[in-house]
Amino acid sequence: MPLTPPAQPGQSFAEIDTPALILDLDAFERNLVTMAAFAEASGVRLRPHAKTHKSPEIALRQIAHGAVGQCCQKVGEAEILVAGGVSDVLVTNEIVGATKLDRLARLAREARIGLCVDHVDGVREAAEAAALHDVIFDVLVELDIGSRRCGVAPGEAAVRLAEAVARSNSLRLSGVQAYHGSAQHMRSIDERREAIERAGFLTRNVVDRIRQVGLPCEIVSGAGTGTFDLEGRSGIWNELQAGSYIFMDADYARNRNADGSPFQTFEHALFILAGVMSKPVPDRAIVDAGHKTAAVDSGMPTAFRREGVVYTKPSDEHGVLTGDPVALPHRGDRLLLVPGHCDPTVNLHDWYVCVRGLHGPDAHVEAVWPVAARGALT
Ligand code: PLP
Ligand code: MN
Repeated sequence: MPLTPPAQPGQSFAEIDTPALILDLDAFERNLVTMAAFAEASGVRLRPHAKTHKSPEIALRQIAHGAVGQCCQKVGEAEILVAGGVSDVLVTNEIVGATKLDRLARLAREARIGLCVDHVDGVREAAEAAALHDVIFDVLVELDIGSRRCGVAPGEAAVRLAEAVARSNSLRLSGVQAYHGSAQHMRSIDERREAIERAGFLTRNVVDRIRQVGLPCEIVSGAGTGTFDLEGRSGIWNELQAGSYIFMDADYARNRNADGSPFQTFEHALFILAGVMSKPVPDRAIVDAGHKTAAVDSGMPTAFRREGVVYTKPSDEHGVLTGDPVALPHRGDRLLLVPGHCDPTVNLHDWYVCVRGLHGPDAHVEAVWPVAARGALT
């Protein structure tokens, strides 16, 4: 039996069942325009990250706003994106083993497919899979520019890896990936600027050395929502991979601008609509949104425009709201929560309930989009 979506197109906001993942279409569209305008004005390519949304519907809207394609993290995400009409996908990750690489090579018959390498064995395996399927992969050498995750050290080893890629007939050396994950949520702009300046110094050095040995290094890809403007204006990076900007989450809202004001370049466009199941005592209300509805790895959801209401504790299917008894909602009330971390929250849901005019009197469901690549883990 198919699952019942929480809403149908055409319904009023009041008719949406809870809990539901809500996309504020107006704020989402403004976020699309804000990032597209920045990329255009800065003369850099925008390749937004689909790990955030897992949705061809959203990918195609980003591309309609000038994005060159999509990033993703998983082969399964790439498959869903290509099936949904995306023709240029970069897997911003190291892909290990013939099972995954065969799938990726099959996909490269239909779309332009890129991937990252940080080890010579990765170069060999990718080259073998591409040759077997008679396709070409675009390859970026991933650099560790400070995050201590994947990536080769930004020195001689990176140049040697670029040479290994260039030697293969089934791989095209596209450039480097230099993504500084741990800089994204540094709270002050000074910390973020310092991290990206240092990363830029390391990245430029490798790019220069790759070019000095006579190889191409066309693409320098990286950046996320917390630092996109720093990489975008650096003159070093020429492709931005930001993902969360379309939604914003409570954790990104804790970042600060130079004057200490909250980072509000992008608007909150993603919410959980939660319903109050119980208000057993005046200073505690229980909502139907817990761990299975909102990811809390980057902090609790926040109650949107509800002064004095604090989401304090999730269990599997319950969330405890505490605070001012007057401000706390009552049984049967509904409220919007801003997820602490948008990407893993989206992956808990099957549908986006897309609402037009969310905060106004005529709020209604314009569309229901599947979270098509939900659970695409391989
Ligand atoms: N690029 C890579 C390689 C990432 O891992 C991520 C997110 O973790 C991003 C880009 C996008 O970052 P954000 O969603 O913070 O904009
Ligand atoms: Mn994230």
